[in-house]
Amino acid sequence: MKVLKFGGTSVGNAERLRTVSTLLPENEPTIVVLSAMAGITNGLIEITELAQSGKMLDAIEKTKALEDKHIKTAEELFETKMYRKRGEEFISNLFLRILSRLIDGFSQADSRNIVALGEQLSVGLFHMLLTEQRKKAAYIPALEYMRVDKDGEPDYFYIEQNLKRLLHTNPFASIYVTEGFICRDANGLVDNLGRGGSDFTAAIIGHVVNATEVQIWTDIDGVHNNDPRYVTNTFPLRQLSYDEAAELAYFGAKILHPQTIQPCRAKGIPVVLKNTLNPTDKGTVISSVQSLRGIKAVAAKDGITAINIKSSRMLLAYGFLQKVFEIFNTYKTPVDMITTSEVSISLTIDNTSQLNEIANALSRFAHVEVERNQTIICVVGDFPASYKGYVAMIFECLREVPIRMISYGGSPNNISFLVDSHYKVQALRMLQQLFPAVTIDKPRYQNIETDTL
Ligand code: ASP
Ligand code: MG
Repeated sequence: MKVLKFGGTSVGNAERLRTVSTLLPENEPTIVVLSAMAGITNGLIEITELAQSGKMLDAIEKTKALEDKHIKTAEELFETKMYRKRGEEFISNLFLRILSRLIDGFSQADSRNIVALGEQLSVGLFHMLLTEQRKKAAYIPALEYMRVDKDGEPDYFYIEQNLKRLLHTNPFASIYVTEGFICRDANGLVDNLGRGGSDFTAAIIGHVVNATEVQIWTDIDGVHNNDPRYVTNTFPLRQLSYDEAAELAYFGAKILHPQTIQPCRAKGIPVVLKNTLNPTDKGTVISSVQSLRGIKAVAAKDGITAINIKSSRMLLAYGFLQKVFEIFNTYKTPVDMITTSEVSISLTIDNTSQLNEIANALSRFAHVEVERNQTIICVVGDFPASYKGYVAMIFECLREVPIRMISYGGSPNNISFLVDSHYKVQALRMLQQLFPAVTIDKPRYQNIETDTL
């Protein structure tokens, strides 16, 4: 069994949806995971925000616009009149649900239900397309098997029981179509896996069914060695280890949701990144194989806040770190980077929703300074500490860039440092000197599908 996930641009219009239908394996059972069409999740979130701020007319107008977009897609998607009609009815019914939620007193639970519609729409239309093409396709609703526990982690036991049951109830199908991103929470209410979460859905499914491969289809030829939006002459990497890919995904290479690697690594399932716009390209294979030593890729993660915590006792006494981390733990805020000196700690976070509470709690025993608009630049590869020269090469390139923090040695796969976001593009461009000059004939990407991560 293979799992294939197609992102928002890959299902972004009727033509793209038809292309996806030609990319499915013919001789192996396949689970197809789809995102919402590009821009739709953002649109649905906007509707919920308008509704929350009482702007009902604007919310209804936006709802109509999204409905029109889907109706237009359905008109172009199907060959036969019968299917066009079915498609339109299906769309109108789902949008009626939004309208009735908007009109009958709007609540937080309604928001999650509305945001979930993006994937339900793309999957419903795609399943109809496969049926019209007389393929042996079955629809497996994510809300009947995908579930997170009270900590927001996948409830693997529940997912396995229910997904397998649903697959078995459709023994004649060879293509199973399901929604990415959406799930139920521990109380059974509609929820989601966070922005860009469809990749994670595919990885969880791959884990549960012991897939031979999880393919993530997007609009670029795999993971590039640097960010093609800012740097010219980047090139796709053919091979990454799970560890390298996890570091890259976490520290900014926006091509893959950071949580995607773990479920696949646990079962040794290769994750292959492929390009819908250039399907014959090999893409990037992520597996346990550790290929060449050395520097492989550079990525940047924006929106970082640095917190400098200076012990008021002028010493990092025993227990100080524990006290600091207990606070981050209490406010459920992950720390990305950390450096220490004799009297102070600098660390970074990207989720600032609890920043005031954290700063208040820390300032009871330390002097706290906060700096926003920082960027983590992460250099990924395989460079164990016993290897000479890599660190020197990296910082030699960055001579002109002021560096705020450096982290090295935690993992042999990652050297990262913090710069003011203002210097990000310069740093990425300077670091491109680390790679052999390659010339590519044409850019093989359009508008990289990354804005949601
Ligand atoms: N549609 C969701 C989002 O835009 C999930 C995904 O695309 O992976 O975040
Ligand atoms: Mg994505």
